Amino acid sequence: MKTISGIAVAPGIAIARAFVLEQFRQRVPHHLVVPEEREGELERFEQALSAAEGDLGADRDRAFRDLGNEASKIFEFHLGLLQDPTLLGPIRSKIKDKGTNADFAVASSFSRIIDQFNAMGSQVFKDKARDVLDLERRILDHLMGRSQERLSRLDQPVVVIAHELTPTQAASMGIDHVVGLATDAGGRTDHTSIIAAALGVPVVVGCHAITEHVNDGDRIILDGHAGQIVVDPDEETLATFERTRDRLDRFLTETAHQADADAVTLDGVEITLLGNIEFPREIEQLIKFGGDGVGLYRTEFLYLTSPEEPTEEELYEQYTQSIEMLGGRPLTIRTLDLGADKHTQQQALEPERNPFLGLRSIRHSLQHLPMFRRQLRAILRAAAVGPLRVMFPLITTMTELKQARMILNDVADDLREEGVGVPSDIPIGMMIEVPSAALMASTFAKEVDFFSIGTNDLIQYTVAVDRSNERVANLYSASNPAVIRLVKNVIRAAKRRGVDTSLCGEIAGDITYTMLLIGLGLRSLSLVPAQIPRIKQVIRRVTLEECERLARRVGAFESQRRILRVLREETTRVLPEADGGWNAG
Ligand code: PEP
Ligand code: MG
Repeated sequence: MKTISGIAVAPGIAIARAFVLEQFRQRVPHHLVVPEEREGELERFEQALSAAEGDLGADRDRAFRDLGNEASKIFEFHLGLLQDPTLLGPIRSKIKDKGTNADFAVASSFSRIIDQFNAMGSQVFKDKARDVLDLERRILDHLMGRSQERLSRLDQPVVVIAHELTPTQAASMGIDHVVGLATDAGGRTDHTSIIAAALGVPVVVGCHAITEHVNDGDRIILDGHAGQIVVDPDEETLATFERTRDRLDRFLTETAHQADADAVTLDGVEITLLGNIEFPREIEQLIKFGGDGVGLYRTEFLYLTSPEEPTEEELYEQYTQSIEMLGGRPLTIRTLDLGADKHTQQQALEPERNPFLGLRSIRHSLQHLPMFRRQLRAILRAAAVGPLRVMFPLITTMTELKQARMILNDVADDLREEGVGVPSDIPIGMMIEVPSAALMASTFAKEVDFFSIGTNDLIQYTVAVDRSNERVANLYSASNPAVIRLVKNVIRAAKRRGVDTSLCGEIAGDITYTMLLIGLGLRSLSLVPAQIPRIKQVIRRVTLEECERLARRVGAFESQRRILRVLREETTRVLPEADGGWNAG
């Protein structure tokens, strides 16, 4: 029995056999093809290419069915790469002119490009390398006759173990059979993790070398709460985890049934529970789980999954569709948060040394005005259809906020001149996810209608830890006393100025933090829709007084570990059946 630790991305416990994705690049045969057989070899390559194209088309259709239109667009990008002459030309000439066998011509050409991208050091190029790797895998699968092992053809429950999963692999997994996922690389909030978590199975990433410790068919316990994988568990461990899994499953089923219950504390304090979404289709789930509206619509995902920038009309359609689905509940549209780990394909040609400290989010929008304005036009037009709030991400300085507001006003004026009715009372807010904004919250509060605290980024910028870097993940925690102090500062400043405040970082959906956040003064949280019922459970079991007492108590602690321990003890006290049902911490 072996236990491997990683970063918890999606909660739950999975128990199944391992399906280890092959490291196929090491086993590609290499031989010379005699001149008279080279045409045939080239034909073999062309056939593999069209078969890969066929696969991509099928995966695109599957993604469309399971994950929606936007997710399926990732495959359009890959289909585009398959037509790229700079990628395919050298392979054809190796086969035809040099007599290299097709398999090796593919592997060597792809691996040169992948190495070049990886050597550039930036995340942007690393992501591009993963896309190319994904294509290589598809073509080699056909050339080497291993297509039957493709993930999409799974026919029994498995925990998928991979060194690194590309976003397309994550989106093309047969969701009926994948019950868990673990990878060597990756961070909690990178592109692949977000898509994987949307599959609704427990996910652990950043396990360093799990692929070296697990063989195909090994029995695996994957604990998406603790971020741990047990390989080959003994009978006792297995029985313990089975009990925990069954208890958590029961807890989740019971809480899901209470979706319609009010999110009110024992002493009558109402908490608004909003949803974080990436695509409009998630609104259906949000309503099913009893959400009060959308507190964070990460609009950049539509751009990330499209080969080209979506048009104003496409955006307008998505936004109005969301408003209609919400049936009068508010929709908080966050303007583009591109850059860093959420880059566009266009940006891939401009690598940055420190993307998280670089041209991301509102900074990116302010330097790409035509694109920003197109999005704002779509948002403002949609505002006429139903309740909508606009939120700017990663505001760091007052100048940025004022510029963003000015552009918004300018776009509204243009629309009105064109005869489009734009409501004059659209609430304008900002994310508080940078320490400078948290520290200056009372100043920012004069300029906005609402705040949303983005702890995912606030943590990384406060403790100087890249949120997607598995090597320093132990330092990345909302229990860090400095993070708690900043959150408290924002809530207080906002309260003094009468500014509505919510919190939309991942901790909003982690029961560990619910009492603390209420105790610090929050009355609104925005979280992954599926997490709403269990957060509601906590709320319904506590009083404001005990939450405030807890907030005061942990406010005096200096150690992150002690804070986390006490928060978990208190949560277990009020909700014993959820013990172990927390996220990463
Ligand atoms: C955050 O930073 O907390 C947040 C909600 O935004 P994102 O995760 O999209 O960066
Ligand atoms: Mg953020």
